[in-house]
Amino acid sequence: MAKAELMNYEKALEQFEVVIGLEVHVELNTKTKMFCGCKNEFGNEPNTNVCPICIALPGALPAVNKTAVESSIKIGLALGCDIQPTGRFARKNYFYPDLAKNFQTSQYDEPIAFNGSLEIEVPSGAVHNVLIERAHMEEDAGKLTHIGGATGRIQGAEYSLVDYNRAGVPLVEIVTKPIFGAGAEAPELAAAYVRSIREIVKALGVSDARMERGNVRCDANVSLRPHGTEKLGTRTETKNVNSLRSIERAVRYEIQRQAHILASGDTITQETRHWHEDKGSTSAGRPKSDADDYRYFPEPDLVPVQPSKELIESLRASLPEKPSDRRKRLAAEWNFSELEFRDVVNADLLDQIEETVAAGAKSQAARKWWMGELARIANEAGDGVELNVTPAQVAELAKLIEDGKINDRLAREVLGFVLAGEGSPAEIVAARGLEVVSDDGALIAAIEAALANAPDVIPAIKEGRMQAAGQVIGAVMKAMAGSADAARVRELLIEIANKAQ
Ligand SMILES: [Zn+2]
Repeated sequence: MAKAELMNYEKALEQFEVVIGLEVHVELNTKTKMFCGCKNEFGNEPNTNVCPICIALPGALPAVNKTAVESSIKIGLALGCDIQPTGRFARKNYFYPDLAKNFQTSQYDEPIAFNGSLEIEVPSGAVHNVLIERAHMEEDAGKLTHIGGATGRIQGAEYSLVDYNRAGVPLVEIVTKPIFGAGAEAPELAAAYVRSIREIVKALGVSDARMERGNVRCDANVSLRPHGTEKLGTRTETKNVNSLRSIERAVRYEIQRQAHILASGDTITQETRHWHEDKGSTSAGRPKSDADDYRYFPEPDLVPVQPSKELIESLRASLPEKPSDRRKRLAAEWNFSELEFRDVVNADLLDQIEETVAAGAKSQAARKWWMGELARIANEAGDGVELNVTPAQVAELAKLIEDGKINDRLAREVLGFVLAGEGSPAEIVAARGLEVVSDDGALIAAIEAALANAPDVIPAIKEGRMQAAGQVIGAVMKAMAGSADAARVRELLIEIANKAQ
């Protein structure tokens, strides 16, 4: 397929107003599936967590997972939603081989939670109030693996394998109302919204919230309309985007693609689209009309969910601190500049830094390691690769520097060994003898040895030409294999020079 033409981003925004809508699927981390007792676990052998209910053998009867209902109510409350006093499940009828039942058990006109809102801050510092239309419970489908094609997609594949381990895993789908007014920051707002949802479900403890595993995934609706017009443009829905960066890129791409089509006088096809991380583009999926007829009807095998007022209030009382409140608190506790704090939020490192500080590190030291050396290593490792280091180990590393046991250079070396699995920083320093030499006697001996080869240095320092000291400091650092503290070597060298005749 020919590559779509794109309009320059700024030009697109001059001509059109962007309207987005976000649907986020959150996989709950309950022990068992939504309607049966099968394990809800990631990474098991295919088709081992299955039973007659989740593969829909005739006569199997589902029962609702109580914890999943409570988790869904918690999510609804955290999003400021009203909770449905009595809500039925519904059958959403369609055939696809990843769902053996021929229908998905979902909720239709009686979602568990509705009418919420969430305040979202974008990188510029602007705050948008995103309105939540609904959050409903449903079950996940299985996983298809397409074999034989070049891209891993169904197109061009020779055959497909299906794994039903995920079929029936509890999901909560959170749907926003159309979001207006984000302008050029619509892509950033989409990503920041999903980040907030992820923070909320993580804080609630109801989901592992790991995007790379698909625990949180986003369908991004994008449409454009000429400035000043009422009628919403035709939208596309880019499905299952599973990283924050990809959400931002996908929304931006759709804005540029649609703007080009509309400006050429053509029309947008209402359809689902796929995001291609490698190419940085979307491609057409299936056409989607607003009147997709799934023949929803109330699920006859399940009783309605009727949470008592007492249950709702006790769940409300158990809610953790809101992400926006947590940010305000951390910003005050850490004493970062506004820019430093925002960079940490955008780099998704709040949790790590909070845990590192809790383990005893100073906030600036924690920030320095996570935003500096560790971010660099993570970046080189690529998306989704988890670094083999804990916040407690980073705190230990920072403490070793603070106590003068190692210098920055040695610390980076120690960190490399931590990442390689050699143990904690203190263990590595002891085992490898990496501690800085703080014994002045040893340092003075090394300085004197270096001076013997550089007789001009002392007279130069005495004349105030301090740059001459570099040669000796360098020689000492080299002789001590980097385990000397350069600042201390310099001090001692100056003392020696001052005492010299
Ligand atoms: Zn099952």
